[in-house]
Amino acid sequence: MTMAAGVQNWVVASAISAMTAITLAPASHAARSDHLADAHAAYRSGQKFLVVLDPGHGGNDKGATYKEGGKTYTEKELTLTLARDLARELIIRDFNVVLTRNDDHYVALSDRTALANKVKADVFISIHLNSSNEKMKSGGVETFILNHATDEGSKRLADLENSVLKDSSAKENTTTPDVSLIMKDLILDANLEPSRKLACAVHQKVREGTKDRGVKQALFYVLLGADMPSVLVELGFINASGDRERILNQKFRLKLAAQFTSALENYRAKKTPRGCVVQSELQFKRDIPSIQKR
Ligand SMILES: [Zn+2]
Repeated sequence: MTMAAGVQNWVVASAISAMTAITLAPASHAARSDHLADAHAAYRSGQKFLVVLDPGHGGNDKGATYKEGGKTYTEKELTLTLARDLARELIIRDFNVVLTRNDDHYVALSDRTALANKVKADVFISIHLNSSNEKMKSGGVETFILNHATDEGSKRLADLENSVLKDSSAKENTTTPDVSLIMKDLILDANLEPSRKLACAVHQKVREGTKDRGVKQALFYVLLGADMPSVLVELGFINASGDRERILNQKFRLKLAAQFTSALENYRAKKTPRGCVVQSELQFKRDIPSIQKR
């Protein structure tokens, strides 16, 4: 698949200084290409574990929203703030980090994982916030892995893949849809167990101090394209006052970033978390843009 125009907006935070890397204003195209090349070089020399962080939504896609006192809180803004704080902490702790977006623009879901594949990320982490109609103080945290390994899931995956393959963006793909699907199936199967370990490592840390909604499996299109272990984390409910206050509080975000980083250090060190159960029921999430075509 060719890289879409959105590539030039991808920001690689692999530079020497964490602060400058993350607070970079939108760079020139050339500078961005240099950063991308740096990320490749760093990976190839095996220097650092590379995390692709994906702040959910962006641009016209606001994600979940909540209005209070004349102010509208949007998931797209909060996920970006969370991802930036996390990236900063990870870089300080010797990880390489690539953000799928570092400003408020929309990046197609397939482009997000295409980037992760291109830079050969070790893990892909998509950051989201939940919402519900229920009035509540704390909604809590839930972590998802992609699992297509059920009859219903496989069928849904095939439907999705087929619809993606019909897209003009896939025209250059010279393999037949069947071969692509088999290849994709093999990659997904190989990544299922590492994704479970990653999800458990992350969840056991980020659930601290909040309501634990568990590790679950779902069909998230944004994870489907990833050729590496991947998870999607819903770090709280935007409409829950307690969750929202925590996320808006920088002190809390720094604590969360430290928890996340510690989880990734454990994963990188291949420390398997104990007592982590992935709920067996497969979820069909409402927050799946490609299933609910936007
Ligand atoms: Zn979302």
